[in-house]
Amino acid sequence: MTMPGDERRFDTTAPKPPDVPMTGRPIVGAAAQRHLATSRLEGDDIKERVRDATDIADLVASYVTLRRQGKNFVGLCPWHDDSKPSFNVNPERQTFRCWVCDIGGDVYSFLMRMEKIEFREALEQLAERAGIDLPRGRGALPVDERKSLHKVLNWACDRFADHLRRAPDAEPARAYLRDRGLTLETIERFQLGYAPAAWDWLLRQAPAAGFPADLLARAGLAVERQERGGHYDRFRDRVMFPIRDPQGRCVAFGGRVLPGSTEGAKYINSPETPVFSKSSLLYGLDSSRDGMARTGRAVVVEGYTDCLAARQVGCDDVVAVLGTALGERHAKLLRRYADRLVLVLDGDEAGRRRADEVLDVLLAEPIDIRIARMPDGVDPCEFALERGREAFEALVESAVDALDYRLEEAAAKVAGKGDDAALAAVESVLVALSRVSDRSTLAPSQRRLREDQVLGRLSRRFGLSREALLGRLSALRSDFSARMPATDGDGEPRVERFHPVTPTRLPAWDREVLEVLVGVPEATELVIREIPADDLEHRASRTVLETARRMHAEGREVNLGGLLLELTDPALHSLLVAVDSDLHSSNAATAADRLSHIEDALRQRRANRDVAAGIRTLKSSSLDAEAEAQLLEQLVATRREAQGMTDPKDG
Ligand SMILES: [Zn+2]
Repeated sequence: MTMPGDERRFDTTAPKPPDVPMTGRPIVGAAAQRHLATSRLEGDDIKERVRDATDIADLVASYVTLRRQGKNFVGLCPWHDDSKPSFNVNPERQTFRCWVCDIGGDVYSFLMRMEKIEFREALEQLAERAGIDLPRGRGALPVDERKSLHKVLNWACDRFADHLRRAPDAEPARAYLRDRGLTLETIERFQLGYAPAAWDWLLRQAPAAGFPADLLARAGLAVERQERGGHYDRFRDRVMFPIRDPQGRCVAFGGRVLPGSTEGAKYINSPETPVFSKSSLLYGLDSSRDGMARTGRAVVVEGYTDCLAARQVGCDDVVAVLGTALGERHAKLLRRYADRLVLVLDGDEAGRRRADEVLDVLLAEPIDIRIARMPDGVDPCEFALERGREAFEALVESAVDALDYRLEEAAAKVAGKGDDAALAAVESVLVALSRVSDRSTLAPSQRRLREDQVLGRLSRRFGLSREALLGRLSALRSDFSARMPATDGDGEPRVERFHPVTPTRLPAWDREVLEVLVGVPEATELVIREIPADDLEHRASRTVLETARRMHAEGREVNLGGLLLELTDPALHSLLVAVDSDLHSSNAATAADRLSHIEDALRQRRANRDVAAGIRTLKSSSLDAEAEAQLLEQLVATRREAQGMTDPKDG
């Protein structure tokens, strides 16, 4: 038996292969992997084509009843408890906005919010709606490439399974699975396999099956040699766990070393490929969907064998993460099938830490999340197989609400440790809570309920007043520069996600620059040339400026529509649409006024910088008296000029 926790170490790096394969001859394939991505511009083009082919009022009207009001349409906002129509669709600018939620955007962000999907999926849905075929590239994968990947992965799955079933050299693998307590039926049902100890076992069989080596590489089955060209098998001497998408197609593998093997990391997974992303898939999902629909519950464990053991004893709603922490995208995926998510964690310190991390991410999801802890030192696989279905069910049913869990933990930590520890614990809960309201897709009324509930509990447990707690919570919230962790918790760079920010909460200078980028094309050039990104204070405005700079460099027009296409983050969409609608409010300044204002402001800022630099030089006192006097005079002139004053007249 393995120790709990050791199933959690995954590694996708393979050891450097020897120059000469262990068996057979070297496979010489395409020297370079063919890249699928086409140029960025083509990707933008398709986004634009799909958007142009979609009428926002049409799209919105399939969710919200709209009526015409002047040039615009209005309706009840789908995201808040709306009694008067606060939701506005502007067909001319092809944008939407809710004044109350401060949410806005284009067709993409509308669909992303409405269907709780990522940009890519919104693009695919809208393209289909508009009858546009997505070309290969960033936007989507051509159907035939996807098919080829599925085909080769499916073939490999059969090869590995067949080898496990029959080959003499697979006996240690069979013994390992027997030892773990998995039955033949489970092994067959989940198509477990074995990849033998050779550098080219799979590659050697590929040509006869009609698969070129570079297809195997694109599917993550083979790795291209760095120096000499050719490929080698990624998985060697490993028990293979096929990973399937929700439709049941094999899209990747997890490979586990046999006890006593020298083949590197205990687990390796397929790398991310066009058909596989570990942060948005779960092991066993395809075969647990019915189970989840029946129980309304999704049980998430951390190891493949944990999942298989639970399934073997008859718990049909159990899935496993793929060597990553459970993240937002997993939660979004599971929410399609279940209302309640139970995360089964180890009883040790690592399990406790993981619970903390997971809570921070998942409190924002509108799904009931519970945490079940294993008894200390027992792994879920052993537990399920030794104690059976009822015990496992009982453990899962004993799971506590994620917030209660956090409160219990906080309380346990501070027991007898004095006020400072108690405050630190309260703070950690409030931080988690402040994130809920920032990113949550919960309706505002649900959010207020949850907030109320938590503050009540905190207040009772720690003897603090509700007012004090509320005050701290709003302080945490208004710390708008606070940001999400940079990674998904699995080391993957997260798709940039911004906290919602309204124009009024931006520093004035940031706001002015955004206004110009969105609505004063005459000033774009100037702003891009003169303003470095670090001149802006807020991360959101810096991102917009950098994006505008890139668009400008590529010869594309910088305006609201272009920026919305380029920046697909819904929070940025809301910000840009809000900036745009401020620009068009009745008392807004004209474009000419804005241009001259920003010219003045830039001159002023430049002068201030020069003066500051001059003062630094003066302070360093490396100048002689005459040079010092000259510089001083110059500084005065600079400042006067910037303030629009002329030289003082004589006399
Ligand atoms: Zn609203």
